[in-house]
Amino acid sequence: MIVYKFGGASVKDADGIRNLAKIVSGEKEKLVVVVSAFGKTTNALERVLKAWVRGDKEYITMLDDIYGSHRRVAEELFPSDNAGKSKIDVLFARLEEYLSRPAEPDYDYEYDQIVSYGEIWSTVIVARFLENCGLNPRWIDIRGNLITDDRFRDADILWNESSSRIKSVFSFNDTNLYVTQGFIGSTIAGQTTTLGREGSDYTAALLANILDAEKVVVWKDVPGLLNADPKWLPDALLLDEVSYREAVEMTFSGAKVIHPKTIKPLHNKNIPLHVRSFIAPEEKGTIVKSDNVLKHGLPVFIKKENQIMVSLIPRDFSFAMGENLSRIFYLFIRHGIKVNIVEASAVSIDVCIDDDRMKVESLIKDLATEFSTIYNENVEMLSIRHYTPEAIERITHGREILLEQKTRSTVRYVAKKV
Ligand code: ASP
Ligand code: MG
Repeated sequence: MIVYKFGGASVKDADGIRNLAKIVSGEKEKLVVVVSAFGKTTNALERVLKAWVRGDKEYITMLDDIYGSHRRVAEELFPSDNAGKSKIDVLFARLEEYLSRPAEPDYDYEYDQIVSYGEIWSTVIVARFLENCGLNPRWIDIRGNLITDDRFRDADILWNESSSRIKSVFSFNDTNLYVTQGFIGSTIAGQTTTLGREGSDYTAALLANILDAEKVVVWKDVPGLLNADPKWLPDALLLDEVSYREAVEMTFSGAKVIHPKTIKPLHNKNIPLHVRSFIAPEEKGTIVKSDNVLKHGLPVFIKKENQIMVSLIPRDFSFAMGENLSRIFYLFIRHGIKVNIVEASAVSIDVCIDDDRMKVESLIKDLATEFSTIYNENVEMLSIRHYTPEAIERITHGREILLEQKTRSTVRYVAKKV
């Protein structure tokens, strides 16, 4: 069996869903189709949530807009299927009813209960359309099957629980086609959880791992993995084959094409990942697979924006390495801050992190008694895998570089934003 994943951009309107149906009906293998929320619905639901939490009745209009756009898509796709359309109405009414009571104090909990509706609506519409096209899809509510802990908004999978439920639900006994949601799951107690923004790729990889898929295909609006973001370097080239290792390094450095957590479940079972274009489905795209693939030989350029560099100096002038380092990292983890670069000298430590101001400030407060801190704001991290002197010159020319780190395969810079 194969797992297909369609992200928000691929299902942003009725034409997108018709295109999905065409791609799906061209697949002869047994298939699990993982679908995200339509277009920018997740962002829109985040705005509904915020308005609702602060008691702003504007949330009703916002939700109405989301309802309107879903209803129009359904109307376009199955105009005479009234039962199909009233299913959508029922599901919107369910969220409206949920919002008619006051919010719980736990924001992350409420986030997951509300934002998860985007995936429910999208998959119901997609499955209904596939059915009306003469396919035999089975819609699966992944909540209740993909079981997680209760770290809302960033839930972790409980493997044993999830594995047995998923194997029995996706049995392929009386269908060859399942449609289900990315990004969402639930606790054992049945509370909805989410896996973190853009988490649908990760869902696809988890299902593939558990069901021993032959491959995962992620359908994107780009031709595959490129050796740079074409918005940054317009002459970016497609990479035909990339190793798991390379893909992990790329996503860690900030490449946005696939979710960073996607690779591990695939690597562990040696399942290849194809990144293909839903705009040009006849093209081959990129294959991410086991580590012995031939090197493509191209430098790979990655930029991570919105960074902040923090320099920490122990107030008592003690060495930075050793105990200081372990205490600092403990605090970073406790504050939920991911470190993108670390560089330590005798009595100072430089780290580059995502500029999430609230988290950074509360961390600095915790560190302030022992360390003096210097910020460098408005910086970005530039990485080149398989660098050459020309590649380095190309992206550092004329830039103010605050930090450079070089290994045999990778060079990274922290540079002032231009
Ligand atoms: N709909 C979710 C988001 O926009 C998950 C996903 O698209 O992967 O983050
Ligand atoms: Mg998305």
